[in-house]
Amino acid sequence: MFENGRWIGPILDQHIHLDRNNHFLEAIREFANSGGTGINLVHKPNFSRLPESLSEYRDAYEETLQMAKEIRNQFTISVSVILGPHPVAWEHQIHTIGLEKSTTLHLEAIKLALEYISKGDAVCLGEVGRPHYPVNEKIWEASNSLLLEIMKLAAEAEVSIQLHVEDNGEKTYSDLAKLCDEASLPRYLAIRHYAPADISEEFTHGLSATVSVGKGSIQKIVETLSKSNSYWGMETDFLDDPKRPGAVLGPKTVAKRTHQLSKELIEKGYSEDDICKIINNIHSNWPNILYS
Ligand SMILES: [Zn+2]
Repeated sequence: MFENGRWIGPILDQHIHLDRNNHFLEAIREFANSGGTGINLVHKPNFSRLPESLSEYRDAYEETLQMAKEIRNQFTISVSVILGPHPVAWEHQIHTIGLEKSTTLHLEAIKLALEYISKGDAVCLGEVGRPHYPVNEKIWEASNSLLLEIMKLAAEAEVSIQLHVEDNGEKTYSDLAKLCDEASLPRYLAIRHYAPADISEEFTHGLSATVSVGKGSIQKIVETLSKSNSYWGMETDFLDDPKRPGAVLGPKTVAKRTHQLSKELIEKGYSEDDICKIINNIHSNWPNILYS
């Protein structure tokens, strides 16, 4: 799917947030104009007013589904929804409603998201995981048993999860791999979001990765591509947050990096056919396996 040496096939952002009080549809316009063809719209918690009951979680999820509908009505891009309670919300609520209540609410919200997934309204559980910042030992242990519980539920439902975790390189992956095995969740169904660009097997341990494609990421991807043996893709984690403009990456970035990837692979001597296969895998074939 090249035209005059330029990729014109699928381009998927595997992790994007939107806020109807900020750019919302304007961000999608930018994404589509840059050549983007699909997004995973990931539920964005309102950290200034977190849900305190299951019915408030339902309202919050419904709002994300409604936004997806509005995008589909106005644009031709495909929109898949990822629903789940955020691990940072769980950690914040420990300090307001206590560990036990926060954990119970979190698990209820997980089960509710799984219901939406089983109805076909959403395709993946996320973002779930554990705090990405230092917490005391008690909270850390609780977050790991909670994550194990979540993985067991995902395994039972045979759905994938997008993981928000700390950035401790390979150690993070090997930890998560152990948890997956303990939960009987196939490793490939655990997708590390905001993943580093190293996609080699010795780094990812068979987990899937959605790489945060910032500056320099394509060089690392190209460097480790031949040693990769699992599913990977690209994301911006665009936050659409008025308080943090420009965080994390802008809506045009995945298209830009896709073209950069194909250019660098051509320079490395890959054939157009091989590049076509790689890009189709990351933006279409593998997502079809992970998000359905
Ligand atoms: Zn996110």
